[in-house]
This record gives sequence, C-alpha cells and structure tokens, in this order.
Amino acid sequence: RAKASVGERIAYYEPAMDETARARRQIANDLRQAIDRDELTVLYQPQHCLATGELSGYEALLRWHHPTRGLVRPDEFIVVAEETGEIFRIGEWVLREACREARSWAPELKVAVNLSAVQLGQTDIVEVVHGILVDTGLSPSRLELEITETAIIADKLRALHLLRRIKGLGVSIAIDDFGTGYSSLDTLHSFPFDKIKIDKSFLMKSDNAQARAIIKAVLALGQSLQVPVLAEGVETASQLDLLKEQGCDEAQGYYFGRPGLSPSLLARQADRQSA
Ligand code: C2E
Ligand code: MG
Ligand code: MG
Ligand code: MG
Repeated sequence: RAKASVGERIAYYEPAMDETARARRQIANDLRQAIDRDELTVLYQPQHCLATGELSGYEALLRWHHPTRGLVRPDEFIVVAEETGEIFRIGEWVLREACREARSWAPELKVAVNLSAVQLGQTDIVEVVHGILVDTGLSPSRLELEITETAIIADKLRALHLLRRIKGLGVSIAIDDFGTGYSSLDTLHSFPFDKIKIDKSFLMKSDNAQARAIIKAVLALGQSLQVPVLAEGVETASQLDLLKEQGCDEAQGYYFGRPGLSPSLLARQADRQSA
C-alpha cells in the first residue's frame, strides 16, 4: 500500500476506502439518470388496523432496478441521493407516483410516503406537497408523510413551523423508526404527530424481555398522549398477539404482506387477463 507522509504523521492509503468512495460516486452518477431511464418503482406494503383487522392503507417504498447491479435497496442509495441533492427530484417523483396510485384505490385507504430529512429542508416543500395533491386530485386526508426524528432535531423551531403548515394542508404526519433516533419525550410532546411508528428492530427482538418492555412503554406513551401507534416489522402471530394485548392500534410487516405492486395495478392486470 502507498505511504504518504503528512507532517510528522504517516497516513496509509486505504484501498478499501477508495473502493467505497468509487462505488458511491458510481451510484451518484447512475442515480441521476434513474428516473429518466425508468429504473425506479414504488412498492406498497399493507398497514392493518388491529381492532378491526381491516386494511387501513399502504406505505410506499422505493425500489431501484439498476441495469447491472440489479435491485439496489433504498438503505444504500437514499443516503447518496441526500448527499448529492438528487433526493429532491426522487422524493417528488415518489410522492407524485404514490398519490396518483392511491387515487385509484378504495377511498378509505391511505398512502404513507417517506420524507427524507433533506427534503424537509427544501424551502418550498409545502408548495411541492400541495402542488402534487392538486395535480393528482388525491384528498389530503388520504396522505400521510413519514419523517424520522433526525429530520427535526437540526432546527426544531423551523421544523415545528413546517409540520404545522403541512398539517394545515390536511395531510397527516407519522414519526418513523421511533425509538432508534434521538427520541426525546419533549419532541413527541411538542410536535403535532398523528402516528408513532415503533421501529422494526424492537419487533425483531421481541422474544427478548427488554425489547418487549420498550414496545410496551412506547404503546403506553402513545395511549397517554392519545397518539395512535403502529408497529412495523410484524412477522409472526405471537408478535401480533403481544401487540393486540397491549392495545397497539396498527401493524405492518411480512405477517400481513411484503411490499408489492400497487393493488390497483394488480387489479388492472387481472382485468386484462380475464378480458
Ligand atoms: P422504513 O420507512 O422504516 O420502512 C420499513 C422498512 O422495513 C422497509 O424496508 C420494509 O420493506 C421493511 N419491512 C417491512 N416489514 C418488514 C418485516 O416484517 N420484516 C423485515 N425484516 N422488514 C420489514 P425498505 O423498503 O428496504 O426501506 C428501507 C428504508 O428506506 C425505509 O425504512 C425508509 O427509511 C427508506 N425509504 C424507502 N423508500 C423511501 C422513499 O421513497 N423516500 C425516502 N426518503 N426514504 C425511503
Ligand atoms: Mg417509513
Ligand atoms: Mg420505519
Ligand atoms: Mg427505517
């Protein structure tokens, strides 16, 4: 490996780091063309009301079909898109796509769309959301935006003002991945959230007493603040039983269904086949 002397220090040139940097640059470049090349798709994962067992809506989850890498997970490319600013175009694309799709579902079904912390920093984000609702004709009450705590800690006052304006449109707001970030009870109390989403990491460890205690604590918190709680990552019937027993409002996870094609798209395909 190459050696470079920096003042008194010896810095080693790490080939592994260089590889990572190169891979990131490549992703950044390819991502710029992903929308135009029609490589992005949105999948929808069902969310169920636990009291009635009924479907309440779907979360929109982005997928990138890269021409040579195959399917790239959002966890890999969203951060890159945030670094390059490409997230603005991608985020708008997802929102438009999800609202247009939801327009053709049963009217009681909602669509939840993830909003990146970087998007929340976009100066005209409220106008963007409003414009997309007008263009697609989706009723604002059917749209839920999911944001994480990291999105609001940078500038709490600004975030509070912004969330109020978004809610003013009639759109609801969920706090995503609750329990993993810089969750402070103060944030929960002072922000106008309509839903708390318990992070799936707690459900995945739910045979562990500590993880179960955290799930119960979050459910109790939601109940006392009168904010409905959704558990994500529900995979088994016993997890579901635990959640029901503790009064959880909604759930989402492989137990109910994996992210898949839009239900209306599936219906259109079935119609075509039977015609
Ligand atoms: P998230 O918003 O917390 O979404 C939930 C993730 O958990 C999804 O991963 C989903 O496929 C996965 N999941 C759902 N149920 C289960 C389960 O029962 N077991 C397990 N093991 N996993 C389950 P996915 O689709 O890979 O997305 C990862 C993250 O990428 C999302 O986490 C979200 O933060 C981000 N993301 C996805 N789509 C978008 C988007 O359009 N915009 C932005 N800004 N971020 C997005
Ligand atoms: Mg989410
Ligand atoms: Mg989540
Ligand atoms: Mg997540």
